[in-house]
Order: sequence, then structure tokens, then C-alpha cells
Amino acid sequence: MSIDFVVVGSGAGGLAGAIAAKLNGLNPIIIEKSAVWGGTSALSGGGVWIPNNPLMQREGIADSEEQGLAYFDAVIGDVGPASSPERRQAYLRVGPEMVVGLEEQGFEWCRAPRYPDYYQDQPGAHIGRTLEATNFDAKRLGSWLKTMRRAGLPAIAVNTDVAPQIPTSFRSLKSLGGVLGVVGRTLAFRLRGQVPLSMGETLVGQLMAIVQKLEIPVRLETPLRSLVQDAEGRVTGAIVGRDDAREEIPAPRGVLLAAGGFAKDAAFREPYQGVTGEWSPASPDDTGDAHKIGAAIGAELALMDAATWYPVSIMPNGRINVGIWERTLPGAIIVDQSGRRYTNEAASYVDAGRAMLERDKEVPAVPSWLVFDSRNRNRYFFGHIPPRLTKPLVKSGFFVRGRTLEELAGKCRIDPAGLMSTVERVNTMAANGVDEDFNRGESVYDQYYGDPTHKPNPSFGAIDKAPFYAVRFWPGDLSTKGGLMADEHARVLHEDGSVIEGLYVTGNSAAPVMGRTYPGAGATIGPSMVFAWIAARSAARM
Ligand SMILES: Cc1cc2nc3c(=O)[nH]c(=O)nc-3n(C[C@H](O)[C@H](O)[C@H](O)COP(=O)(O)OP(=O)(O)OC[C@H]3O[C@@H](n4cnc5c(N)ncnc54)[C@H](O)[C@@H]3O)c2cc1C
Repeated sequence: MSIDFVVVGSGAGGLAGAIAAKLNGLNPIIIEKSAVWGGTSALSGGGVWIPNNPLMQREGIADSEEQGLAYFDAVIGDVGPASSPERRQAYLRVGPEMVVGLEEQGFEWCRAPRYPDYYQDQPGAHIGRTLEATNFDAKRLGSWLKTMRRAGLPAIAVNTDVAPQIPTSFRSLKSLGGVLGVVGRTLAFRLRGQVPLSMGETLVGQLMAIVQKLEIPVRLETPLRSLVQDAEGRVTGAIVGRDDAREEIPAPRGVLLAAGGFAKDAAFREPYQGVTGEWSPASPDDTGDAHKIGAAIGAELALMDAATWYPVSIMPNGRINVGIWERTLPGAIIVDQSGRRYTNEAASYVDAGRAMLERDKEVPAVPSWLVFDSRNRNRYFFGHIPPRLTKPLVKSGFFVRGRTLEELAGKCRIDPAGLMSTVERVNTMAANGVDEDFNRGESVYDQYYGDPTHKPNPSFGAIDKAPFYAVRFWPGDLSTKGGLMADEHARVLHEDGSVIEGLYVTGNSAAPVMGRTYPGAGATIGPSMVFAWIAARSAARM
């Protein structure tokens, strides 16, 4: 059977789109630029945010499309047609169908029941809308395991809801129980002779297993170069391949662009966002190819300033640390170079990252400094660094240490008076557990990443036990969000709003239905998979 639908990219969106295409009677092929498949999706936490999802329904947890829509309206606001009412409704309607459709092919989902939507005070907010793939035996991928993009995770059977328990596992029996559960599940895999995948790896692993079962061809090292159009402008094929080996793949039913964002093309990115992507842990192949190729045939680009911002630190080995709890646990604050706080450190990563960039317009805040005391260091993990460990980190220059706050400020070139007065105020407020300046620790989301044993505020505490430490924090991101404008059928649109027939887009290649906001955990992979599902159905109907 000859190929009739080309899927560009092998991340969560591309794999889901190819599966949906096959299930809807098309003959798709996946082309992937890189020598490895999985995209940034493979490197991710693997969360997939689906309001009113079937797993909630089966557990009798009340949610609805209406509640999802109310939440969308409240947190995203009006950002133009990328997040039109029709696209929001399409997302909410098809999300649960996609979940069931994949289940029918053998995909196993589980829920993160404690994970709150990020804006709990808004209408329609819920807890537990995030889904993920269950841990999966890597060996089931056969030879495809060798070419999977790897996140460098240890082979343990962890999942999303356990993550906040890790940093407090030495302090709370409940947290320790969560971590021991991971140990138990990992051992069970090992005893069966299996190797567990988790997070983004298990998500793309399970999807790839279905792609293989459905015998969908996947070609690695096959970049999309340009699109072929007929006399009416309909996209009918793809020009692919390396410079010395270009070829055309005919695509009479269309092309789905699922090629990720543009986090890693500094020259393309900087004019839109003022940052180069050096602090982004997105895949190095996240270079805006779909954006450029789509724009070259007249597609509109929208929300190009948006990204999934994420404050990061750079580990001594150069690895970008996307930990959350460093800034959400008591005894640590983020200050600009004048020594002042400027945001709720425990807010969602998108808000915290964006706040850093905004602050930098007034006061130097790139980098900002995470300042913490010895009590914090002795109690909690910093990323994967266990409590108490400091010497090698100070020696490498990653941790800056000061016997006093003045000494610390001097070493970091932070204004000492600013830092002293900030810490004094934090310590006064922490005694009552109320952050009068930024409300840290008030929301359920802040508390999710807090220390449940710390009273009265699980996220906010004094910084008063010497020596003191500081680490540079940078405004990183998980990828960019802006992209090709599409309608509710995932069809790419011209600048005048007309449809480019035969061209579909999803994921970070598309202008986001989530706008500049991040409503809940899984708010980029969710839309990537759902609009891929929609795109394939649209193509099958044409
Ligand atoms: C550490 C980390 C944790 C994260 N956790 C989460 C999370 O839990 N939930 C969530 O929703 N998001 C998360 N994200 C963000 C999320 O991973 C991405 O936004 C998402 O995976 C993008 O999916 P995609 O389908 O658009 O593209 P990708 O997964 O990036 O796939 C795109 C693919 O297209 C390929 N490609 C690019 N150009 C071409 C071309 N010209 N021809 C052919 N192929 C091409 C790329 O090589 C890549 O394989 C996380 C990101 C990181 C880095």
C-alpha cells in the first residue's frame, strides 16, 4: 500500500498522529530528522493534561467539558484564534477520545491523582487531571530501543506524583513510603527480567510499540526540507532528506507537522524572545523547521513570544537542572542582583520563569540567585543531590557559600544591604507562616511541592542557619510555544485566515491552544497528542 500521509517528527504528537491516521484508514509514514526518535517528548516528565479524562470518570471523580472550558477561559483569556473557543472545545472533546483510542491499542495510562491544576483559585480548576503512561518494559521496543532519544534517567519505575515526595523522603514517613513504592515497583520489574521506562521515555515507548504493531514505517535521519503544493495550493507531498539525497514523498492525504518548537535555533529565536535557548533542555533538534517551512508557503505564525518558561540551574557537569523543589521548599528564596525578591518562588514554572525575565527589564535579574540556609541544605535534596552534601559543590563553584549573608552577597555580587533586608523581612513573615509579599505557600499548587512536615507554611520558612548558600538561576524553558496558526481541525491557516489544504500542525509547531499560560501538568504534550489525533481524523475525512 502506498504512503498517503506524511507525519513530520517522532515526538508524542507525531507518534500519536501516525497512530490515529492508521486507525482512520490512512497509510502514514513518520519522518524524523534526527538519528534518534522521541523528540523533546522523550526527555519530558511525560505528563498529559486531559480534563474530564476517562480515568477520572471511571473513578467517579466529577469533571466536565464545561468545567474545563471555564478554567480555560479564566486562565488563558483572549490570546486570539490560536486559542479560539472552537479550538478549546475541540481539545476538551477529543482529549478523552484520544485516551480511549490509545487504550484500545494497548496503551496503559495512569493518573497523577494528587497533581493540582496550577491555578486552583480559578473557576473550573481541578486536582488530578494529569495522565501519564504506566512504567513500561524497555525490552518490548526490541531494536527500536537503541534509537530512542534517552533522557539519561536511571531505570527506575517512578511516576509523576512521587516526584514531590523525593526531596522530603528523609523527613516524612508518607514521602518515604512513596519512594519505597518506587523501589518495590523497580524490583518487581527487575525480578521479571524487565527494564522499566518512566516519564517521557515510557510515554514515547508505549506509543512507538503501537506504531510498530500497526506496521507504520518510521524513517530516521530524514528531515523535512520543503512542502510540495499543487496548482490550487494544496499540500500534496514532502521534500525530504539530507543535502546530497533529496527525494519527494507524495502525500495525497496531506502532511502533519509535528516537528516541535524552536528552542534551539538561537538566531531564529532571539528576535522573538530575547533569549537564545542556551538554558533550554529541549532536544537539540528543536530548531523551528516546521515554522520556517510553513511560513515559506504563507502560513501565519502566532504567539511567537511564548515559551514554557522554567527557572533552571546549570549543574557542574553542564547539565541543565529543571528541578522544581529547590525553589519551593522552606528556607530558600530567589532574589535579583539587588538582593530583592520579586515573585512567589513556588508559583508555576512558567510564571516564575517569566517573572525573572520581566524583572530583568527593571533590575538585573538574569541570573537571579537562589539563596538558602544550612537548615534547608541539611533537610532536602537539591535536584538529585542528597541533603547535607556541600563540599564538592562548593569546590566546583556550583554552590557559593558564605559564613554570613554579607559574605555570601559579596561573593555573588548581590547588593548586601538589599539581601540583608530581604532575608530579615522573610524571617519575620516566616514566623507566622504568611508571605505578605507574594502569598507563597497559600495555594494547593505551592503546597504540592512543599514540605508537609513544615509548619505553619509548608513552602515558606526562615533563612537563619549559617552557613548560607546561593546558586545561579537562569530563565530556561522546556521549549517554545508559538507556531503555525491552525483551526479547530488542526488545519494550518494563511495570514488571511484561509485554510492551507492538506497541511496540518500540532504540538510546539502550532500556535498553542494554551496561549501563554500553562494550566496544568501536561499542558504541552496534551495538546500535541490531541491535535495530532484531530489532524489525522480531518485528513481521513478529506
Ligand atoms: C525536562 C522536560 C520535562 C518536560 N515535562 C513535560 C511534561 O511532563 N508534560 C508536558 O506536557 N510537557 C513537558 N515538557 C515539554 C514537552 O516535552 C514538549 O513541549 C513536547 O514534548 C513537545 O512535543 P512535540 O510533539 O511538539 O515535539 P517533540 O517531542 O519535540 O518532537 C518533535 C520531533 O520532530 C523532529 N523534527 C524537527 N524538525 C524536523 C524536520 N525538519 N523533519 C523531521 N523531523 C523533525 C525532532 O527531531 C523531534 O524528534 C517537558 C520538557 C522537558 C525538556
